[in-house]
Amino acid sequence: MTRFIFITGGVVSSLGKGLGSAALAALLQARGYSVRLRKLDPYLNVDPGTMSPTQHGEVFVTDDGAETDLDLGHYERFTGVGNRRTDNVTTGRIYSDVLAKERRGDYLGATIQVIPHVTDAIKAFVKANLDGEDFVLCEIGGTVGDIESLPFLEAIRQLGNELGRERSCFVHVTLVPYIAAAGELKTKPTQHSVKELQSVGIQPDILLCRTEHEMPDEQRGKIGLFCNVRESAVILANDVSNIYEVPLSYHEQGLDREVIRHFGLDTQEPDLARWEEINHAIQNPEGEVNITIVGKYVSLQDSYKSLTEALTHGGIANRQKVKISWLDSELLETDDDIIVADHLANADAILVPGGFGERGSKGKIRAIQFAREKNVPYLGICFGMQMAVLETARNIAGMSNASSTEFGETPEPIVGLMTEWNIGNELTTRDADDDLGGTMRLGAYDCVLEEGSLAKEVYAETNISERHRHRYEVNIGYRDMLEKAGMKMSGLSPDGRLPEIVERPDHPFFIAVQFHPELKSRPFEPHPLFSGFVNAAKERSRLV
Ligand code: GLN
Repeated sequence: MTRFIFITGGVVSSLGKGLGSAALAALLQARGYSVRLRKLDPYLNVDPGTMSPTQHGEVFVTDDGAETDLDLGHYERFTGVGNRRTDNVTTGRIYSDVLAKERRGDYLGATIQVIPHVTDAIKAFVKANLDGEDFVLCEIGGTVGDIESLPFLEAIRQLGNELGRERSCFVHVTLVPYIAAAGELKTKPTQHSVKELQSVGIQPDILLCRTEHEMPDEQRGKIGLFCNVRESAVILANDVSNIYEVPLSYHEQGLDREVIRHFGLDTQEPDLARWEEINHAIQNPEGEVNITIVGKYVSLQDSYKSLTEALTHGGIANRQKVKISWLDSELLETDDDIIVADHLANADAILVPGGFGERGSKGKIRAIQFAREKNVPYLGICFGMQMAVLETARNIAGMSNASSTEFGETPEPIVGLMTEWNIGNELTTRDADDDLGGTMRLGAYDCVLEEGSLAKEVYAETNISERHRHRYEVNIGYRDMLEKAGMKMSGLSPDGRLPEIVERPDHPFFIAVQFHPELKSRPFEPHPLFSGFVNAAKERSRLV
């Protein structure tokens, strides 16, 4: 029997609802249950694919090629369960499906309304494509009271009614602020937020209260009384030092126990050894490495969420604390080597992550040149691989015109628009006029690694599968030129047409990949490229 847990948020956004949902799922897993996490996002975009990373944060890509909300990254990192296209939906997607059905005449002339047509589509989404999991945790994005989230709240209210209490549970995440002038925690915002939820017919079963201070029992009792929630189900969620402590902290506060109790289940205590080990490793590093990320969206670190997590995982694997410096690549756009060296002086390793557009690309190429010439470990991801290839072509092979068609027409399109590639057995064709949404090479593709390469050594496997999100590709036609300039193509698509990994054998650790390895890294299963990269940074920090 599948049970559904609906997680809503109130008072303010950014309360860590996604993390809380992921942590609760991890705790249920630790009690031996199978889980699936889903997210309903209230905005009107069809998916987050076209949203600015500085506004919305990273776009997380699933194996099956969906562009999803970054919370799905937390879900995977905390549970190890791979997300699918059917685990994230937006209001925009729901409406566009409903309207497409209406145009096809599927509703047989009925008047199309939010209730029941839109809410039915939401309910169908919540229940579709499940594998008999014990628990489905469904997070509702946004904050209770937003106009956009109303249809979602109505849909989960109906679902709660249909499933009954024995198969549904409502968890509401709120804020209990500390008012310095009064010297106390204030419960009123939580009361109001629960009232708001009750006004749409939802009575929360469990409250997860974010606070920065210890909460006296008296306050807890008050929240329970005013919000009509059992006192033991008012769970305190204090801030913790690192996100992987959240499952341990929520368990201590009794969150999973309350959920189990709500459903009348009787299980043994969870096995939290895995989480204790990770926390032990994070809290007791043997050393520290400095990694400089040279990028364009450095103003909002959420735009590289999976990347910073993957670096932390690489740190766990090597017992190192990874300190990240963010460097705006435009600062490196100078002919003066001293300025470049100054900005990168502290770097034990340099990383150029994914990116779009020409702005800032020259600075990235400068950073890559510095890494190559000074033997500083380098990891290039997606755009960071394309720029590494341009760096070698321009600075070693002397092709000053080498460029990417992403920056406009060029006589040497070393990076160009791939107009076709295979999805499964089908050939897909793209052209420059396609829509921008959902038209990149998206999702998992196989890659074959070359014997004797650094890539092969790091992965310790020959065939790998990694997730992609890009429109342009390195042109295999330039292979000879690049190899003569010391850059080897050490990973190719199985048909040998698409370069997926390049490296420089004359360098201690210089590797760049067309895919996004950070999307598949987990704290308890650090990705080999990040373990290898942090290890190389550690070696470097010992040298200098
Ligand atoms: N802008 C490049 C492309 O579309 C790289 C994309 C990325 O780094 N994710 O191919």
